[in-house]
Amino acid sequence: MQGSIAYCALHFALCALRFALPGLSHFLREPYVAGIRESITRNPDNVMLTGESLYTPYTQFIRTRRTRMTEGLRSMVRETVLTTKDFIYPLFVVPGKGVRNAVKSMPGVFQLSVDETVKECRQVSKLGIPAVILFGIPEHKDEVGSEAWDPHGVVQEAIRKIKKAVPDLVVITDVCMCEYTSHGHCGIVRGEEIVNDATLELLAREALSHAEAGADMVAPSDMMDGRVAVIRDTLDDNGFQNLPIMSYAAKFASGYYGPFRDAAESAPAFGDRRSHQMDPANADEAVREVAIDIEEGADIVMVKPAGPYLDIIRRVKDEFGMPTAAYQVSGEFAMIKAAAENGWIDHDRVMMESLLSIKRAGADMILTYFAREAALLLKEA
Ligand SMILES: [Zn+2]
Repeated sequence: MQGSIAYCALHFALCALRFALPGLSHFLREPYVAGIRESITRNPDNVMLTGESLYTPYTQFIRTRRTRMTEGLRSMVRETVLTTKDFIYPLFVVPGKGVRNAVKSMPGVFQLSVDETVKECRQVSKLGIPAVILFGIPEHKDEVGSEAWDPHGVVQEAIRKIKKAVPDLVVITDVCMCEYTSHGHCGIVRGEEIVNDATLELLAREALSHAEAGADMVAPSDMMDGRVAVIRDTLDDNGFQNLPIMSYAAKFASGYYGPFRDAAESAPAFGDRRSHQMDPANADEAVREVAIDIEEGADIVMVKPAGPYLDIIRRVKDEFGMPTAAYQVSGEFAMIKAAAENGWIDHDRVMMESLLSIKRAGADMILTYFAREAALLLKEA
């Protein structure tokens, strides 16, 4: 009985204290805040010129600046660290020999013939970048994009030569039809429609031909329904059970792809890609798209573009905990380049910040045209 009275009293005292405390801290802080106000009104010059308040503060607030005072301290509390191992470098392979065509809207990016691609890959590997992703621009385009699965197509030749010259470099291949079709669409076209199921077979053939040429990973970017399942089946049936698939799982119909279409020569002759790529307004749907690709057998899931879709990257990473890639696309790259060339922003600083932000959002790997420049900068640091 006595014990329970004591307990009640204690409980009452604690409750009272809990309600009194905020008032108490306000009571303690108020003269201090008033003091600052007064010292500013009395002598504003003093505060502005010397940076010193007449009022001597006491510790009524939390000083988060303490751990920002020196680079040493900042480096100790840094949550995200960008490394060269985070990057995947995209390359555009064209027919010919000794070809290096500058892509006008993407300064520093070139269309490369197979021999030049191999040279580039040697340098990329020397910088410590672990992987490249190849896009092919064929000799001839036709209605069904048949060069996409030609065993002697540019991408297939490039894979063989790269794997021979730089065996440790991971070679990923983009799997889609739009670079190979005469109409520039991602699949078979009937009337105005891009036909889903008939396209799947072509994609599977393309992926298999990349695997047979020695690719380390295939990356379907077409956004047809069921493509991951069909590609997985085809690879498995042909002895490539251990070849991973990186799916462009949440790929949005974005205006940021503009410069890429110069580089890959893949602009559609009519219409657009809104019947298969996602509406930029949809985040829940992006999560569903990713869930479906995982279900179908994707090993790595990708969000594209990256910078304007950081919220999607974070949701995908949190929801699935899968290896997550993000593609910093040509438009993101071109905007930074253009602003820097005009002297409006600091190129290196904004480049690194853009990449860091993508990693902070949850990306484990970043496909980026900045890979070489960023790797060089990280090496110097
Ligand atoms: Zn495409």
